[in-house]
Amino acid sequence: MNDSRGCQYDVVIAGGAMAGAATAILLKRERPDLRVLVIEKSSTFSRRVGEATVEISGYFLCRVLGLTQYLNESHLVKQGMRFWFSNSKTATLSDCSEIGGKYLSRVPAFQVDRAALDEEVLRRAIALGVELWRPATVGPVQLNPGAAQSLEVRYQDQARTVTARWVVDASGVAALLARQEKWWRQNEAHPTTAVWARWTGVKDWDGYELAAKFPDWASACNGIRATATNHLVGLGWWAWLIPLKGGDVSVGVVFDQRLVDWPEGGTLGQRLKSFLLRHPVARELMADAQWREGDVHWRKNLPYYSTTFAGDGFVLVGDAAGFIDPFYSPGMDWISFTSWSAAQLVLAQQKGEAMAARVAAHNQRFARSYQRWFEAVYQDKYEYMGDYELMRIAFQLDLGLYYLGVASQPFKRGAKALSEPTFSTSPSVPFFYFIRFYNRRFASIARARRRRNQWGRRNNGRRELVPGFTFSLKSALPITKALCGWAWLELTEGWRSWFARAPGKHSLHPLRAPASSVP
Ligand SMILES: Cc1cc2nc3c(=O)[nH]c(=O)nc-3n(C[C@H](O)[C@H](O)[C@H](O)COP(=O)(O)OP(=O)(O)OC[C@H]3O[C@@H](n4cnc5c(N)ncnc54)[C@H](O)[C@@H]3O)c2cc1C
Repeated sequence: MNDSRGCQYDVVIAGGAMAGAATAILLKRERPDLRVLVIEKSSTFSRRVGEATVEISGYFLCRVLGLTQYLNESHLVKQGMRFWFSNSKTATLSDCSEIGGKYLSRVPAFQVDRAALDEEVLRRAIALGVELWRPATVGPVQLNPGAAQSLEVRYQDQARTVTARWVVDASGVAALLARQEKWWRQNEAHPTTAVWARWTGVKDWDGYELAAKFPDWASACNGIRATATNHLVGLGWWAWLIPLKGGDVSVGVVFDQRLVDWPEGGTLGQRLKSFLLRHPVARELMADAQWREGDVHWRKNLPYYSTTFAGDGFVLVGDAAGFIDPFYSPGMDWISFTSWSAAQLVLAQQKGEAMAARVAAHNQRFARSYQRWFEAVYQDKYEYMGDYELMRIAFQLDLGLYYLGVASQPFKRGAKALSEPTFSTSPSVPFFYFIRFYNRRFASIARARRRRNQWGRRNNGRRELVPGFTFSLKSALPITKALCGWAWLELTEGWRSWFARAPGKHSLHPLRAPASSVP
């Protein structure tokens, strides 16, 4: 408040973590004269989920925010994704079917400690001249489209009123504006829960011990397994293992509440560990692992969205605008798209451009993106993600199409491609329908497999180690291979479910009673 005009700003950003601080940087870098205030509730960021970047968020962090050197020095370079499957025949880690890269990855991505990374991004925003109130809490916001917005803020034990032409809501899952304005909606078609912790004592995937114990398994991969996002998968659930600089490992489970029974009894850490130890890979790697006390968390009913993303004077970024699912780590991609587009909206208004059409286009783009992204990639995926044969084909299609259609765009066309969130443009429409179609088919085949007790029948003894995706057209080859695999699957087995009725919108033929509550 050292501004001579009192508590008046051009932009106030509620929430100073990744989405808020990144938006502040984009604004200040383009318009150093803007008076930008970030209001952040916490005194310091604690560790949080959101630790794996993928290619879009890698681009955003490296080339847009300029963090490449910092990421290389202070975090870990990520080596793609790996998936580990199990069934009644998988006694050990080496029996588990595996999908992943044969070599190191080709496009930059990172495994990050979000507490450290978010502090750094915020520090860089401040270095550009952004003002920070911290710890401070944004309360009710009076929205006045086309005029000054007014915020009630608690800072230094005082209630203050702040006015600004723009409010950027970067408050994360608190979703300040969406909840206040009743735009917040639960995504009821996807009832998922996550439980996670940071762990010590997780074995080294690439160390001497496992190489000595399972030499064939170790030599099958010529890259580094440990710095991938390793996914353990099962029916209705998946778990991530993400290594952090310094030795801790982030491990958590996400499950579909309609398909999975969460263990009863014990502390949340004990229940998380006993759930994980059902999988042979966790039994090998985590037998002696210990969660860090005070760092065990859960969140029920993960996905939600806001029916409004912006108006002339406010805009929602990151988790404050919506959340779909952490599978494939799209969270920071969503931050890249929302923060970039939010900054463009504010900058356009500051240049005196007409806002009505821009705001309408922004709302349409993000509403479409959320809906299509969810329907194409995530809806009902938990039915089949744990079946090696189905996931092997889906992974190659999902990732191949992401590389060719989404991730390649900013690398080829520059940051302006971030104005087009996934599935929001006309050329992406046929791909949306295509991806949604094959995901529905795999879910349907998975259901038929479960009825015949065939689900997961190849979850042992198989390995699909791919050379790695690039943005070259050669990466269409695995897509073609996967399409042939899918066609074969349909002819040999899929016909059984061609005319099967899809389950109701909110039911997935639960195998067991839904988990009622988590802790
Ligand atoms: C289980 C799980 C796993 C995930 N894994 C990944 C992953 O691997 N990769 C990935 O990219 N994403 C992942 N995500 C998503 C990722 O965590 C989020 O997308 C990301 O952290 C959102 O960042 P944000 O800045 O929008 O919000 P947050 O990081 O939640 O920050 C919001 C900030 O706002 C502040 N705040 C809240 N209310 C107020 C207020 N009233 N006043 C002032 N400040 C306030 C908070 O203190 C906080 O610092 C995962 C999510 C989940 C649930």
